[in-house]
Amino acid sequence: MEADLNRVEAELGDVEHALTRLDAGTYGTCEVCGSAISDEGLQAAPAARRCADHA
Ligand SMILES: [Zn+2]
Repeated sequence: MEADLNRVEAELGDVEHALTRLDAGTYGTCEVCGSAISDEGLQAAPAARRCADHA
């Protein structure tokens, strides 16, 4: 159960981070190289912070 809880907390953190990036206008861009993350990538992981090259 503890592992599940940790995973949920990590996912929540990712979602909060994504919301911050939405506010900042940087949602959907890679934090490493700044290029846009593909629609496919965002569908698979809506809170993705990095492009496929830097995932
Ligand atoms: Zn990148």
